[in-house]
Amino acid sequence: MTSHPRDAFVSPRFAQPATFMRLPYRTDLAGVDIAILGVPFDGGTSYRPGARFGPREIRAQSSLVRPYNYFQKIAPFDRLTVVDAGDVDASPISLERAYESIESTVSSIVSAGATPVVAGGDHSISLPILRALARAHGPLALVQFDSHVDTWEQDFGSPYFHGSSFWHAVNERLVDPARFIQVGLRGPMYGEDDFAFQRERGVTVRDIGQVRERGIAATIDDIRRVATGPAYVTFDIDVVDPAFAPGTGTPEVGGLTSEEAQRLVRGLDGLQLVGCDLVEVSPPFDGPGQITALLAANLLFEMVCVIAKRREAG
Ligand code: MN
Ligand code: MN
Repeated sequence: MTSHPRDAFVSPRFAQPATFMRLPYRTDLAGVDIAILGVPFDGGTSYRPGARFGPREIRAQSSLVRPYNYFQKIAPFDRLTVVDAGDVDASPISLERAYESIESTVSSIVSAGATPVVAGGDHSISLPILRALARAHGPLALVQFDSHVDTWEQDFGSPYFHGSSFWHAVNERLVDPARFIQVGLRGPMYGEDDFAFQRERGVTVRDIGQVRERGIAATIDDIRRVATGPAYVTFDIDVVDPAFAPGTGTPEVGGLTSEEAQRLVRGLDGLQLVGCDLVEVSPPFDGPGQITALLAANLLFEMVCVIAKRREAG
């Protein structure tokens, strides 16, 4: 069984309610290979809010993304069933309740045999996703594209926020720190102690200076060497320079270009991806042309293609 985006030669790209890439909206996931899931939640945000509007705007901007990936040489919808599974109805008031809904929805996707591709939402949503996936697959490798470490222990006395997801993921043994790599980190920071967690747990760091110096291809080699076995990819859009991705909650200057981000995601080809997310798109802060959401839609398509290749290969 396959599923196709609406034919742009029959239905104009800007017509009909927006689903991701104009794929069918379906919540019955029997026979589905890849499920796109929106998590419109930003209750873990510490600075600019608005990521709750991310999934809706990413869907709107994804209308232009065409179904053949020229660089990856794959037309994923010709052979696999890919659907838009809608959104998690996450509580905007209670982070703990939101986590429960996110975890149970992702668990149901995994039980149906589908691979979740998640559009956030702020970075706090990755923790409940990882809880669901690690229950099915055991401790995971993790590739985190981000300008921030997100390994702080708490904020204002609360354990959960968008900067603590991976502290908890490692401590809950959802993620194997020896198979965890962070790419694109930069600052200003609080101090060298920001990296104490990485040093103590053996997490691999490739800050933006190392990425620049070594290049994209060598960085991809590093990712492949570290992220062995079942793996999750989390892409915080703030790893991209605010010139290309201004619509985000915690912008940091001096980041990746859009094209470098695309190449890095394409470089995940061959990893055993069991799921992925793209987070921290905040449409109220986006630039003219909704360039951040447009980039996010394109990066999610690259992720779908990487997963499709792996699923096709069996
Ligand atoms: Mn982050
Ligand atoms: Mn970040």
